[in-house]
Amino acid sequence: MKAVQVSKAGGEFEVVERPLPEPGPGQVRVKVEACGICHSDAFVKDGAFPGIEYPRVPGHEVIGRVDALGPGVDAFSAGQRVGVGWHGGHCFRCEACRAGDFVNCSNAQIAGVSYDGGYAEYMVAPAEALARVPDALDSAEAAPLLCAGITTFNALRNAGARAGDTVAVLGIGGLGHLAVQYARKMGMRTVALSHGPAKEALARELGAHDYIDTSAGDPAEALQALGGARIILSTAPNSAAISAVVGGLGRDGCLLVVGVDGAPIEVAPLQLIPGRHSVGGWPSGTPKDSEDTLDFSARFDVLPRIETYPLEQAAEAYDRMLGNQARFRVVLTMGG
Ligand code: ZN
Repeated sequence: MKAVQVSKAGGEFEVVERPLPEPGPGQVRVKVEACGICHSDAFVKDGAFPGIEYPRVPGHEVIGRVDALGPGVDAFSAGQRVGVGWHGGHCFRCEACRAGDFVNCSNAQIAGVSYDGGYAEYMVAPAEALARVPDALDSAEAAPLLCAGITTFNALRNAGARAGDTVAVLGIGGLGHLAVQYARKMGMRTVALSHGPAKEALARELGAHDYIDTSAGDPAEALQALGGARIILSTAPNSAAISAVVGGLGRDGCLLVVGVDGAPIEVAPLQLIPGRHSVGGWPSGTPKDSEDTLDFSARFDVLPRIETYPLEQAAEAYDRMLGNQARFRVVLTMGG
């Protein structure tokens, strides 16, 4: 099979021929149809994640069809369409798993990080990492829902906002353009925030009721003028921009971060105390959460805007993602 691997930390993407991987006990071989390129793939490319063994095939936004079942797998059948996201498997034995908290499994695996992922014609994954994919979704469009989609959908649905509450989405990129659609379709009064006026038309097209250009004034004041936000979902990888909106929270408001920046977020205690505000984070979710994301997306017509590239052009596609040029998610497709 053809695969795209990185053979050392900081190495280039290499298109290579590899033997077809065989599924072991509890594993499934997936014939990959599409794999999204995520900013987190940089962990593999740059070696910025502990314990990665090289060569490694990245990719954790995978849609494909079950191709072969390892011993003991009976929950899936050949030809069935499935997805693999960031959460790439769990042990069922540790304390977190015994409490049903698979995301925090002490032995959690990450697809495309702990084992080879979806930048390939085939991949092998543990059966518990697979999500079922609704027929209504196109494979290339469904792929980004397994990371960008589940992260924003799951964060929003667990954030405690109710229909009619104000949800502000900071950053209208790969995650944010999905978050705006989810918030709107979940019944929220939806506000999009982005630097500059360029994203306004798109944000409104995606369902935003209001748009705040964060470069045009104090974004916190602008949010307060709209009554304050019950949830500010920050998808922006920019802690200074995040700190600037904390003052836009309304009563019992929560700033929820899903975009990563190394710098600290600055919050003064008095920004939190009177309005009972909180700051939190949310990590994607389980394969069941992926299924819920895919089902919701299919029913309510939430789709990512994507650019597709053939597998062989992974390096070019990755650079487009990294250079912030992609509108809005880049997806590799495996011809035929
Ligand atoms: Zn990702």
